[in-house]
Amino acid sequence: MPTGKTTASGKPGMRKALWWDHTGPLAVVFAGGPDSHVGDLVLPVRIPQGPGQWARVEHFLANPGRWHKVDLVRRRKASAPGGWVYEAHLMILGPGYTAPAVQQMRRQAAALDRIGGVDGNVSNLSVVSFPASLDPADSAAASTEITLTDAERTLLEKQAKKRRGRARALERSRRSTNTGQYGLSKKQMRRADRRASKGLLEKTVTVPGGARAARTDGVPKQAYRRDRLSEGYRQHRARQAEHAASAAEHRRFRARQIARQIIAAHGPLLVVEDCDIRTWYRLWGKRLSQTTPGMLIAALDAECRAAGGRLVRASTWSTALSQHCLCGERVSKTLRDREHKCTACGLTGKRDLVSAALAAFVRLTDADDPKTAYRDTAMSRHAQIMYGQGLEEALRESTTPRQNTPRGAGCVAVPRQRETSAHRTAAKRPRATPDEPRTMRDHTGKPGHRPGCDPQLTLQ
Ligand SMILES: [Zn+2]
Repeated sequence: MPTGKTTASGKPGMRKALWWDHTGPLAVVFAGGPDSHVGDLVLPVRIPQGPGQWARVEHFLANPGRWHKVDLVRRRKASAPGGWVYEAHLMILGPGYTAPAVQQMRRQAAALDRIGGVDGNVSNLSVVSFPASLDPADSAAASTEITLTDAERTLLEKQAKKRRGRARALERSRRSTNTGQYGLSKKQMRRADRRASKGLLEKTVTVPGGARAARTDGVPKQAYRRDRLSEGYRQHRARQAEHAASAAEHRRFRARQIARQIIAAHGPLLVVEDCDIRTWYRLWGKRLSQTTPGMLIAALDAECRAAGGRLVRASTWSTALSQHCLCGERVSKTLRDREHKCTACGLTGKRDLVSAALAAFVRLTDADDPKTAYRDTAMSRHAQIMYGQGLEEALRESTTPRQNTPRGAGCVAVPRQRETSAHRTAAKRPRATPDEPRTMRDHTGKPGHRPGCDPQLTLQ
């Protein structure tokens, strides 16, 4: 193999062409390293095509001085020949690519000079912001509500149905190739008994519907990894994994898009309640995987940083946003009360929007410690007086155009709260638990409120 500048014959000026001389289409060449006798591995590369891709490709490829390494990776793809696609991933020493439109949006967002609050909920996200100067001549209070659209909901239901169907097909396939590992279902057993009593021939069951053959302690007699799996099963499983990956990618994309919309309207200085998403999961389970509020908040955090701002987390315990009014009065609400009605100042609005508006006036002694958060009541009162009618309107209905149509008044479906629900807080609370005797509660049968603690807070 040629390694020098001249060929074996040693004729000066006659040089064998090297890959360095290549000026054709882009290709990745593996020279073989110590095993160079096997020759070069040359892989033609198809660079990303499509509208808007060229600037991105240029960003990564234009400056060879920044190229760091190329990884050759393969990715499962059931529809590709052989079941895999191969990709070359180029890593550069430098920042990633940001589209000019996004850069411009971030610059504009940073120049907005607004302060905002975010109220994350299981089924929606509410954002309210004010001009930082609190000058009514500047611009008005703005609010946004993010909910799942009907189209998105339908799509999610369709996808879930498809997923269930695929899982069933996989299970059927596994059962039919490992008939020895499964017993008959009750129906199949009854049928076999009936046939036996009539003296008919025994019928072979292709897909036994009963339980897996297991030891008395429930461990399967044969480990699942030792099962025989058909080619169809493997293909089906690959397709399912692929589909799940693309759905996850779509969710991330949607979260990023929504985060950008929020920043564009409300600026990159936002406060959100620091809540433990695990508590939500314990309560709502499946509903969460549809709306992904945690993913939205994470995307918002990243977007705020990219625009030069910050998403600050404030503790629920020290602020109790869902239980207060902008005027500073306490307005107790249970999770079912979706409306905020203050008896002291007469402010009415949607519960989540009022919480978000209050979050805009949360200050922190230490921005990195959510526990140091407190409500700046003087500021929120001031804003309430300054914006008056406009603020009430913003708290009643989203002021920014929403990408979707609401599902009707209220927009959120909150399951009925049962009297004997489990603890709604992750930590131990100094109050009566639902399993304690009635004498521990007040006459209404509801858990007694004690000063400084509120049973509904962790959710909001
Ligand atoms: Zn009030």
